[in-house]
Parts: sequence; structure tokens; C-alpha cells
Amino acid sequence: MRRFEARKDKRKKTAGITAAVVIALLLAGGAAWTGAHDWDLKESAASLKGVLGGTESVAPSGTDGGKVPASGGPSAEGDGDDPAEAGGGTDAPDQDLPEPDPLEGIGEYDDNRELPAEPTYFDGVLIANKKYPLPADFAPGEDPAAREAFDEMAAAARLDGFELAAFSTFRPFERQQELYDQYVARDGVEEADRYSARPGYSEHQTGLAFDIGEVNREQHWARDSFGETEAGKWLLANAHRFGFILRYPEGKEDITGYMHESWHYRYVGKELAAKIHSKRETLEEYLLLPDGKTGPADPDK
Ligand SMILES: [Zn+2]
Repeated sequence: MRRFEARKDKRKKTAGITAAVVIALLLAGGAAWTGAHDWDLKESAASLKGVLGGTESVAPSGTDGGKVPASGGPSAEGDGDDPAEAGGGTDAPDQDLPEPDPLEGIGEYDDNRELPAEPTYFDGVLIANKKYPLPADFAPGEDPAAREAFDEMAAAARLDGFELAAFSTFRPFERQQELYDQYVARDGVEEADRYSARPGYSEHQTGLAFDIGEVNREQHWARDSFGETEAGKWLLANAHRFGFILRYPEGKEDITGYMHESWHYRYVGKELAAKIHSKRETLEEYLLLPDGKTGPADPDK
């Protein structure tokens, strides 16, 4: 038992020091915070208590390693190293909770949400959808790299006999507001939400979305029929080589939040476009699901 005694002492000591440091830091932080926010002292004391309580509740439930006990403090512990006792921490039930689904509700608006102060990036990739809107004043204009990639793609398409046109790219917040209001007036909110974004939620506001059609075949612009044309099929098969992905594929409405749009492409760069294309994924799935859930990317495709 000598070994256990020594470990126990070490744990006590470490725990004591850790607790002292944590409390000192929290008090200092709390004081600075209170000063900066000019808050009611009673309120900040309550918050501080909440913070301290939070620290306790996240104490690890592991049976080893000189960590702060979950409750009671070292002196209240019975025999110290009993794994059952140490492991019966208050946070044990948390481990049984299922992982939250990162795609849960992603295709739907949250009516209580306000537009954020900053746009959302995952691994450096800008996202704009019904769950991750943009600030109203986010107005980067058409992305120059996307335009360059489109021109490159249009040149390749020309060699195959198609004259591509990008008939809608960057769209500012105010313009989206006008469009959406018109659609709602015509079709009602529920129907309009299936094909048009509310202002702040449009990918066109990122400057990275390109609505693509064929010159002199305007009857297919922004229509399902574009997907049936040779140019539409060419795009579907080739856009990823130039850094574009079909953003709203068939059958993914619950994830992207929009019905299939054969003409709406999103610039993500060649590397990412190749991966997403080979996995037959949406941008949401690629960015939000952990690796392995949808299988590895094939870099040769
Ligand atoms: Zn579009």
C-alpha cells in the first residue's frame, strides 16, 4: 500500500496546486471581466460561481493521473485509489450521450437565428447555407479566382462545342432581398424557400457561386432542362476539373436545403472539387462529417 500512499499524496498536492491556480486565474479574470463589462457585482459573482462549478463538473473521471477529484476534495475521499469510486464522477453519464449529428437540421432555417457578425469557414472553406448564413454587410464581390477558373472551363467547353455563360455570380444582400421578396409574393414562403435563399443565406453573396448556362440557349437558364442539355451534362462531368462542384445535387435537398439545380456551381478550388466529386458528396457532407464516415477520397479521380 506504500505505493498507493505515495501516489495519493502526489495527487493531493497536484490537485491542491491545480485548484489554487485555477481559482486564482478565474478570480483575476473575473475581476478584469467585471471591470470591462461594468456589470453588477452580484451578477458577476454568480457567473464566477457558475464558471467554478463548470470547472468541477468537467473534472476527469479517470482513475489515475493526479487530477482534481470530481467532488468532495481529497480529504473527503475514502480510500483514494479505488477505481470504482474515482470513476463514479459526476460526468460519467455524459459519455453515454450519442455524438451530435453535424448534419442535423442543416437544410432548414432556424427562424430564431440572427445573421452573424462573421462568415463561417470550415478548414478555410467558406460556407453559406440555411444553417450558416452570412453577415448582411458581407460583400466580397465576384471571386477573381473563381472567374479565372470559369474562363478556363469555358475555353475547354468551347473546344467541345459549347459556349458557356455565367449569367449570375456575385449577388449582394440587398439584391437577394428584392428577389426573395418577389418570389414569396408570387409563390409563398414555403415554396420560395425551396429554390431561393433568404437574404444573408444565399451562396451567391459569397462571390463563389456561378449560375451557368449556354449562350443563345437562354430558354434553359436556371431551369431543370439545362441538366438534360449536352452542355449541362458536360458541366456535370467536367466542372470539378476546373474547381467547381454541382452545389445542389439531386436527392440531397434535406442536406443542402435546396432542390436540385443543374446550373448552380460553386467554386471550391481544383483539389477540393476533385475530392468532393469523387465521393459524390455535398459540400456540407464533405466539410462537416468526420473522415471515414463517407469513405476515403480517391485522389486519382
Ligand atoms: Zn445560383
